[in-house]
Amino acid sequence: MNRIAKARKTERKVLSEKILASYIINFGTTPTMPCANCFRHQRKCRMAEGFSRCSECLTRKVSCDGADVSYRLAKNIEERKKMESEEQRLLERLLFLKK
Ligand SMILES: [Zn+2]
Ligand SMILES: [Zn+2]
Repeated sequence: MNRIAKARKTERKVLSEKILASYIINFGTTPTMPCANCFRHQRKCRMAEGFSRCSECLTRKVSCDGADVSYRLAKNIEERKKMESEEQRLLERLLFLKK
């Protein structure tokens, strides 16, 4: 199929993860308890409201168990989906601002 289109999509995804991570670093907070990954590797854990992963886990594309409390409290899938689309909207805005 269309290989170029696929490659572009991945590139954009990587870029967006970097942007989201830098957003968390700038506007997020340092949690009282870092996530397991950051704790194990002695990294600076940063989390932001509405995000499902900390900045480190986001950049490293690993699952994060220290996600902000509101996300963890959102037990049902619908609520989580809402938060993920919020994340996406924020990203769109950040990408727009960059231009
Ligand atoms: Zn972390
Ligand atoms: Zn994490």
